[in-house]
Amino acid sequence: MAGRTLLQNARVLTCSGDTGERPRDGDVLIEGDRIAEVAAHRIDVDPASTRVVDLHGATVLPGLGDAHVHISWPLDFVFDHAAIAKTPPGRHMLDVAAVARTFLESGYTSIIGAGVTQPLDDLLAKDAIDRGLIPGPRIVPSGPMVAEQGGLGADGGLMDVVADARELREVVARQCDTGVRALKLFISGDGVVPQFPSDDVYMNDEMLAAAVEEADRHGAFITVHARGSASVAMAARTGVRIVHHACFLDDDALKALEARRDDIWVCPGLHYLYAMVSGHAEPWGMTPEKIEASGYHEEFRSQVEGLHRLRESGIRILAGGDFGHQWTRHGTYAAELQRYVELGGMTPVEAIHTATRNLGPAAGSDTGQVRPGYLADLLIVDGDPAADVTVLQRPDLRRAVIKDGKFGYVNPEVHP
Ligand SMILES: [Zn+2]
Repeated sequence: MAGRTLLQNARVLTCSGDTGERPRDGDVLIEGDRIAEVAAHRIDVDPASTRVVDLHGATVLPGLGDAHVHISWPLDFVFDHAAIAKTPPGRHMLDVAAVARTFLESGYTSIIGAGVTQPLDDLLAKDAIDRGLIPGPRIVPSGPMVAEQGGLGADGGLMDVVADARELREVVARQCDTGVRALKLFISGDGVVPQFPSDDVYMNDEMLAAAVEEADRHGAFITVHARGSASVAMAARTGVRIVHHACFLDDDALKALEARRDDIWVCPGLHYLYAMVSGHAEPWGMTPEKIEASGYHEEFRSQVEGLHRLRESGIRILAGGDFGHQWTRHGTYAAELQRYVELGGMTPVEAIHTATRNLGPAAGSDTGQVRPGYLADLLIVDGDPAADVTVLQRPDLRRAVIKDGKFGYVNPEVHP
């Protein structure tokens, strides 16, 4: 018989309800890797065959997820992509393993790759995690990012570079054959690199449609770096699944997104821009002059405004955002949710949904809700994140993380 665990005396935030949901007293029964029962009453079990864990009123919510992850960036990462690419693979993978563990210990049970620095980073980490060799989240693996010849990223030697739809299709097929399931394409510039402004558009409809079709054949999907309106609109009309950044949204872009409301997600990465324009990166060389030149101030204002428009249009928003810089350190992932509340006008539960019930279907897994039949990926915290979302950033309040029905992390200071 599959292992059974009863989480007793909990406060359950299911993330199955509306954004007004509050944690309620209840029990959660886990059988094997799935949630078997969620009850507002005491669930009776035979303690001889079921492990009973009394949570003493701690909150149980779905494990969190991040949809824009670079697991390749070590804990001490400072923009040194070339150095990371050259690190001996064995040593580098230990850095990657440390990042994977950090995600899990931070309450993150699901991540979607947004491009790697050494080609197999996501795949090797996923394999080691799935085999139980190292602790880490569920991973939708990405491969090297894909750039268009002459476009942003094409010259660094770290990306796959393509010239046309045929080449792009080949790259997508090749990455998928290695096991990649979230392909990351660069279809716009980025203000931080002045010669490639955010308004620039790379690739075209034909290329993206070919990439989407090829990925689909392999059970994979396309994600894009798209900052300007025109690139966002192109992504939406060609079948891209996840649009990263979407800093600028004109009416065309918004209309194109609305037309695909049921199968597209937007992952802004708001905390990253917030940290940049707030000067948090200054100790690492991002001077006020550089930030000014990047246009990030305008981009940040525009992104906040766009976030409100996306919400009003009912387009699903994801949490996730390039964590791993020293000014947005690994382990601080839930800061994104705080920004959504403070700047995006979301309720705490709505912000939590961006990391749970919105993210499960984007990742293609039965995760993100505390609901019978769903995978038992759960986070147990003290306090009420539905009242104060910053609770999720506090390591001292984090009691335990369950993944696949097993305790993947137990805070040594606070036993569950
Ligand atoms: Zn990124």
